[in-house]
Amino acid sequence: MEYEHVLVDGFGRHIEDLRISLTDRCNFRCVYCMPEEGMQWLNRDTILTIDEIERLARIAVDLGIREIRLTGGEPTLRPDLPAIVERLAPIPGLKSLSLTTNGFLLDRLAEPLAKAGLTRINVSLDTLNHEKFHQITRRPALDKVLAGLETLERYPSISPIKLNVVGMRHFTEDEVVGFAKLARRKPYVVRFIEFMPLDADGNWERERVLSGDEIKEIVERDFMPLVPVQAEASSTSRRYRFADGVGEIGFINPVSQPFCATCNRIRLTADGQLRTCLFSVDEWDLRTPLRSGATNDEIRAILRNAVAHKELKHQINEGDAFQRASRSMSQIGG
Ligand code: SAM
Ligand code: SF4
Repeated sequence: MEYEHVLVDGFGRHIEDLRISLTDRCNFRCVYCMPEEGMQWLNRDTILTIDEIERLARIAVDLGIREIRLTGGEPTLRPDLPAIVERLAPIPGLKSLSLTTNGFLLDRLAEPLAKAGLTRINVSLDTLNHEKFHQITRRPALDKVLAGLETLERYPSISPIKLNVVGMRHFTEDEVVGFAKLARRKPYVVRFIEFMPLDADGNWERERVLSGDEIKEIVERDFMPLVPVQAEASSTSRRYRFADGVGEIGFINPVSQPFCATCNRIRLTADGQLRTCLFSVDEWDLRTPLRSGATNDEIRAILRNAVAHKELKHQINEGDAFQRASRSMSQIGG
């Protein structure tokens, strides 16, 4: 079968970024993501194996995927995470392999991950205050995450270290200057992300979104002016450096300034379903064909067809037209 080595959607967007969720389970229960109890877990036999993940990743890279991010749930809960990194990192044509984690297990995993070939990481951290950390993640674990970050700094092959901070009104405002200082004191790029309606509890309210512009205003008012840094067109992050040149900070504003027009992402859930948008209501099953003898060409055809149907944009700002995604953030792979 003839196929082009590019994934292009119906709106001409070139898809180059694949997020692979390794599990839907997590050792935290962040309030904006999961309920304290009562999450329905995926049946373990539906979770893709390391061999299945590698096969799909190779096919995707062959079709033009250039960046793969491993996520979850909490990807570090998978005992074979370093082995997965070791299998994916050397795929010819893959330019970047990264991991998004809550950092809880990084104190012991930083070394095996660096040895396995991981070069980029995002650690989620919403507060530098112990009580607030417990409140937002429902776990008293700030020290353990900070220890993980310290350990990570000993492995400069993993760089940059990005910190993801979900901006929530009445929670994040008094964290902003602390994170700005951290972005200067440490080799970290801090990125504030707007709260999206992807929480399993369905408690999202627009009023709780602290926008990137509001956070930027706090930085400039209470700390120091910011200077824009040129970013790639498909970058979701608006990047700034501090006026004195030390450190960088970024804003990911999917709610107040949607970047759907340049979105180049697709996502694979831990149970092998392809999603072409965070807010998709439909998925494309790859697990069944994978497990019933489909050829690589058949899998390629499913990927290309799915991408051809990628949604134009999310509808968070379109009132009643907005339909919640068919899964919540931890089940999709953020
Ligand atoms: N467990 C890992 C972690 O927390 O980094 C990886 C998965 S988590 C779903 C990926 C990212 O999604 C994290 O940075 C998290 O803060 C973010 N996230 C989760 N729920 C969100 C929501 N409702 N709105 C915006 N970001 C969210
Ligand atoms: Fe777990 Fe990450 Fe969701 Fe927090 S944001 S509950 S760490 S999956």
